[in-house]
Amino acid sequence: MLSEPLVFVGSCDLAGIVRGKGFPEAELERRLDKGVGLTHSNIMMSAFGPIHRTPFGTLGDLMLVPDPSTRVEVPFDGGTAERFYLGDICTTDRTPWECCPRHFLRRALAALDEAAGLSLLAAFEQEFVYTGVEERPGATYALDAWRRQGGFGEAYMAALRAAGLVPDSFLPEYGARQYEVTVAPTVGLRPADAAVIQREMARAVAHRLGHRAIFAPILNPDGIGNGTHIHFSLRDRAGRPVLYDPARPYALSPLGERFIAGIIAHLPALCAVTAPSVASYYRLQPNRWAPVEANLGIQDRGAAIRVCPLFDPRDAAAEFNLEYRVADASACPYLALGAVVWAGVDGIRRALTLPAPGTAFPALPRSLDAALANLAACAPARDWFGPLLFDCYLDFKRAELAALDGLNPAEICARYVEVY
Ligand code: GLU
Ligand code: MG
Repeated sequence: MLSEPLVFVGSCDLAGIVRGKGFPEAELERRLDKGVGLTHSNIMMSAFGPIHRTPFGTLGDLMLVPDPSTRVEVPFDGGTAERFYLGDICTTDRTPWECCPRHFLRRALAALDEAAGLSLLAAFEQEFVYTGVEERPGATYALDAWRRQGGFGEAYMAALRAAGLVPDSFLPEYGARQYEVTVAPTVGLRPADAAVIQREMARAVAHRLGHRAIFAPILNPDGIGNGTHIHFSLRDRAGRPVLYDPARPYALSPLGERFIAGIIAHLPALCAVTAPSVASYYRLQPNRWAPVEANLGIQDRGAAIRVCPLFDPRDAAAEFNLEYRVADASACPYLALGAVVWAGVDGIRRALTLPAPGTAFPALPRSLDAALANLAACAPARDWFGPLLFDCYLDFKRAELAALDGLNPAEICARYVEVY
């Protein structure tokens, strides 16, 4: 049979799903320049597929332009290669479209640079369920659970490396059939690109093996959640780490305190972006090693933001990082990371301080509905998103809520499992 290589270019959209179009590889050079055509309403495709609501109708043309730095080319024995790019959504005159999620993160990073001359170093730690192993009690963190995934882990690590990521660890997690993958941190937009590729490669390898890697926030309402934990630190223009000061509370420098205080202050609204599905709130429950308060904790895996441990005292400042734990894979990594950065920048600009020791931290919202109400009421968030994307996002998520109306929690989980 004749066959000709195809390339896909996608955008990770408001639902956190990579969607786009394909073209013959022979056209790559032209497509890197011109992109592929897209329409405005594409951004309103729901997690479940249909466009429930859109302010754009059937009108308009945009371009999805591949970013060469995101190139993925991973061959698979006896099957089609994974060959794709992530791209920017631009208007036909090539300016970034205000609703492009990648542009949202790029603007947040520019605001961080402008407010304090800082860049962001980050990496996503992601949990998922691999369906290629039998469900067996007692296999938590077990060598046997690690062994039973067979060739998946090694094929996955090779695929990540071939896709340009640096794998850091792969391990059996706490939940049944649950695994976790971490990669080395990177700067700027790259951590979010890498997070998307990290997910897609897990799905790609599992698919080649006849299975799935499921990143849904939780598989059933009483189960163990799949968290997406975002590790981050900040660097100045000379590349020096700026968050660490061992003499101060939480070992946070004054600048670090402001950045984190901004995130804490906005967490009740950030949830609508970083934990943006109905099922996200079945994960954010007490006693699940997942956060329920907008709090900061030293080495506390129940906190919203964890001050991570230091393993190399000789290079503590460089190693020092925080982990944002209120995220899952129903979130678009560009929106999640961007929203966290915007909140931190607001903390820097307003010189916010952390709640005094002994003061209670606010609770996190207990439902997507409540989180969306917080976001809608968050005046600065309207500027972070820009009015059009802000209204689109709220409408998009409210339509997702409405689409699940009448289903019970188990049925709701099942809907998200099908998708993520
Ligand atoms: N599975 C937990 C979550 O939903 C996290 C467990 C851990 O600390 O790695 O976030
Ligand atoms: Mg984990």
